Amino acid sequence: MNFKSVLKQARSEGRTLLNEVESKQLLAAAGVSVVRTELATTAEQATQLANDIGYPVVLKIVSADISHKSDAGGVKVGLGSDEEIAAAFIEIVANAKKAVPDAAITGIAVQGMAETGTEVIVGMTRDPQFGPVMMFGLGGVLVEVLKDVSFRVLPLTDRDVNQMVNDIKGRVILDGVRGMQPADKTAICDTIMKIARFVGDHPEIEELDLNPLFVYAQGIIAVDARIVVAAA
Ligand code: ADP
Ligand code: MG
Repeated sequence: MNFKSVLKQARSEGRTLLNEVESKQLLAAAGVSVVRTELATTAEQATQLANDIGYPVVLKIVSADISHKSDAGGVKVGLGSDEEIAAAFIEIVANAKKAVPDAAITGIAVQGMAETGTEVIVGMTRDPQFGPVMMFGLGGVLVEVLKDVSFRVLPLTDRDVNQMVNDIKGRVILDGVRGMQPADKTAICDTIMKIARFVGDHPEIEELDLNPLFVYAQGIIAVDARIVVAAA
């Protein structure tokens, strides 16, 4: 799957939202660390994929009409067996239909379960005046409540990215508080740089969100991603 074919597919369906599976696979191809994510359209296919990916797995709703998946009961984490997958598959579809009755359901994303790390978010929006702007912040509830984020206009130098990561008030959390290991800032900077390059390579991308990525003492991995492209 490459950017052009995904774009063409989305536009042929009148979509501007690339789903999580498409978004993550494109980001993975751009060198960004993402949790392996595949699309299943039946429970049987989901268990096959789970066995291939390796338990435990996470199942999520894939629908162009549902952008906040957990609000719609569309995310089940820590599934450890074929039986749990089969039950979760049915439950997620039922929850989604209840939350958004007319939602067109593409399928269910089957993905590896990442170990919990420090949650951060990376995003891009287009400013009418400045063009593409990258955003970085702490993830989870913190980012919504504190709006502790930093912005930089593209293109980014290494220095810009470093400043961006150290600009947030919550950087002490990344530096490691109360015996916590410091988060891998090199991996964060590298990820922001790769995403900036990916965005620069594809002017059709209007908006992009990796929310959240888990950062560890060593390494980083995105567990959720969405990309919005310009209409044809
Ligand atoms: P939403 O559309 O609601 O933002 P997410 O895909 O972000 O849905 O999932 C909600 C939460 O579930 C995430 O913030 C993360 O804490 C957890 N989560 C999602 N995917 C994974 C995964 N693959 N491994 C571990 N945790 C995950
Ligand atoms: Mg999310």
